[in-house]
Amino acid sequence: MKPERTPMSRRPKPPPKPKTGERFIERDPVEVYCRIRPPETPNQEECVTAVDSRTVKLAPPVSCFAFRNGHAKEQQYKFRHVFSPDSTQKDVFDYVAKPLVSDVLRGKNGLLFAYGVTGSGKTHTMQGSPHDGGIVPRTLDVVFNSINEYQTKRCIFKPDGMNGFDAQCESDASSERRRIDATPIHPKTPRTPRYRRDTSGSQDSSQRIPDSSRIECIDEDNVFSIFVAYIEIYNNYIYDLLEDLSDAGPSGRLQTKILREDAQHNMYVHGCTEVEVKNPDDALEVLYKGQRRRKIAYTRLNCESSRSHSIFTIRVVQAPLDAQGEEVVTDKASMMVSQLSLVDLAGSERNNRTKAVGDRIKEAGNINNSLMTLRTCIEVLRENQMTGSSKKVPYRDSKVTHYFKNYFDGEGKVKMVVCVNPKADDYDETLPVMKFAELASEVQVQRSVQPTRQDPGLLPGRRRANQLFKEVRRRLEEEGENVKNLEVDLTPIYTLAPAWPAVSYTAETRDDVIMKLKAYLQKRIHNREKLQTELKGKILTMHTNVVEMEKENLIMKKEIMSLRSLYDDAMTKVRTLESMLLNAESVNESLQRKFTDYNNLVDECNAVREERDIAKSQGHLEKQRMKARLKSKLEIEKDKLKNDMQTKLCEQKSKMYHSQVRALQEIFLDNNQTPGHVRVPSTSDSDLHQPRQGSQSSFKQSTSDPKLNISQAFLTPDLRGPAVSNQRHRRSRSQGADIWLDHRPGQGDVLPTAGGGSQVVLQDVEILKQRDPLAVPVSKRSSDGTPKVDTTTVQERCATGIAYYGTPSHYVPSKRTKL
Ligand code: ADP
Ligand code: MG
Repeated sequence: MKPERTPMSRRPKPPPKPKTGERFIERDPVEVYCRIRPPETPNQEECVTAVDSRTVKLAPPVSCFAFRNGHAKEQQYKFRHVFSPDSTQKDVFDYVAKPLVSDVLRGKNGLLFAYGVTGSGKTHTMQGSPHDGGIVPRTLDVVFNSINEYQTKRCIFKPDGMNGFDAQCESDASSERRRIDATPIHPKTPRTPRYRRDTSGSQDSSQRIPDSSRIECIDEDNVFSIFVAYIEIYNNYIYDLLEDLSDAGPSGRLQTKILREDAQHNMYVHGCTEVEVKNPDDALEVLYKGQRRRKIAYTRLNCESSRSHSIFTIRVVQAPLDAQGEEVVTDKASMMVSQLSLVDLAGSERNNRTKAVGDRIKEAGNINNSLMTLRTCIEVLRENQMTGSSKKVPYRDSKVTHYFKNYFDGEGKVKMVVCVNPKADDYDETLPVMKFAELASEVQVQRSVQPTRQDPGLLPGRRRANQLFKEVRRRLEEEGENVKNLEVDLTPIYTLAPAWPAVSYTAETRDDVIMKLKAYLQKRIHNREKLQTELKGKILTMHTNVVEMEKENLIMKKEIMSLRSLYDDAMTKVRTLESMLLNAESVNESLQRKFTDYNNLVDECNAVREERDIAKSQGHLEKQRMKARLKSKLEIEKDKLKNDMQTKLCEQKSKMYHSQVRALQEIFLDNNQTPGHVRVPSTSDSDLHQPRQGSQSSFKQSTSDPKLNISQAFLTPDLRGPAVSNQRHRRSRSQGADIWLDHRPGQGDVLPTAGGGSQVVLQDVEILKQRDPLAVPVSKRSSDGTPKVDTTTVQERCATGIAYYGTPSHYVPSKRTKL
């Protein structure tokens, strides 16, 4: 079937600009929003702040150009809405773009600009990131969420290359689909994605979080198809980012495109690729491919993307379903095409800021030119509207303004998001942006009206009716019914007659025409009478129904009354129970409190008891420690006492000994006075000590050997021990005999023994002689064994004995001596 052409929009050409006194035309201002991006660093100096939801304050920092010129002054700018730095992507989309999505799905055009200096967040606002999409991905999400079940199959609509669309029947569309599917996909060619699509560009969409909202009240008796186009304007040249590069030659460079005007004076890019997409991921895949191509192009040209304008256009093509709600009406007059253009403009900064040199200056100059032209156009539009003049708006001076001129002439709604970086360094660039925003918000564009479409006179809701009918048919078929002849008539129920007959009036056909019209009118009269009768019958039925309902109503009212009284009773009971419950709860609470108090008391008692136990056990310990201390003290005292007692005992014994010696002396002296006895002169105590001293000196002489010192002698207090080590025992009594033996101490060596001990080897033996002072008159054996009578006086012997017992602690009991 040969497709027909359709213009981009079905709307009639807008009327010329209103002049003073002309009929009133509804106008809307360009909606200008402001989005302030978050600070780049935590303590950033800022010159832009949001005063309220509609006002922004711009304060000049000390470093700015205006400040240096002395023109700096704080200014406030009004916007339709101000998005503060903490606003989300969803906030911006819902407020700014969602109404445009709703419009485009109802056939109205829309244009949304992002304007601002580089780094102010234009691209962030338009595209965002995969996990937090900007306006473009959200728009695609919402479009497909809203029309998903009303989409046509692929290739039913296809672009005609002249801003219009052709429609074809299902059989033609399916053969075209087969043809496309059979064609190998060229890697450089973005085209309508297929099921077997190239996934190389889909990595970005894999982690995407889609927007789940949708637009309600879509005309469900229409079918929809979505097309996307992606172009960029760089250096005042237009490039199609979705162009098939297989035709581009070995350079692989994009061809520049030209702008054209269609029959309805709408501007379009000639030969621009439009890709039919069936879901948001398909559409984003196309977008990402375009972006990659853009990037490659920039790398080749060694320039930056912030210098170009990118335009992503979503076109919605819709057409009604036929009377049965089954097939698409391919009549061009019934089709409707609308578009939403989302524009990420180039950075609005001046040349010196970009530090452009050579070719770059040209680029930057052109960018500024196109933005300057946009500004001039806005100014002229505003002036025309303010003064009623009709100055020519210089749209043609730049590609951007030329492409969008229809919007400013009333072809659709225009919105602008002014992105602002609040940092103080950007003040000099932000000031003109604010001024432009203020200017743009004063421009009024003609309100876009609901596009008119030829009413096909079809039953509304036919799609649903058709679906219901199909469902019923399926179920009947399942139940084994014959449904072959089952048909449903979805034409309007109440109609006087079919459309008027096509007649052409001439003299010859006059009677014929009259007859035809008469028959037609009679049919209408007949239909009317029939409808009137039907209506009367229905009114009667309805009256009867109303009377019935009234009766039922009365009965119900009575029932309601009785139920109400029951309800009131029940409510009174409930209230009583509630108050009881409240009382019980309060009692419960007080008991609970008491219980808690008791518990606390018990806890306190336990704590006190534990403390007491601890103190008790500590006291016990203390007592034991004290006992031990006293015991050890007692032991020490005991030892001390014992020592004292021993000392005293020794002293006592020594005293006793002296007294005994004296007694003996006296006795002896007495005896001397008797014949046969040697007379001994009486001696005092000091005399007694004399020989001891002499003995000591001789003692010292005899102990010249260092190995036989006195300390060694004291270590062996036993008189019968080895005389060699005890210098006070230089003689010993022989065992079992009362004879004193002389020992000969001498010089010797101490040698270690094999058993780990030591032995003394005497080399130089000195013979010492000592006599028992108390042995008189016992005869002793001389060294040669002959008994010998000691001739030493008793006094000398006593003196020697005293010297011998010089130290009381080594006093030898007197039983060893024989007095
Ligand atoms: P422009 O397109 O205006 O040159 P971009 O959109 O590329 O600026 O933003 C520059 C940087 O600032 C990007 O890294 C972007 O993520 C960040 N940015 C901009 N606006 C915002 C915002 N509202 N929230 C978070 N980051 C932002
Ligand atoms: Mg950018």
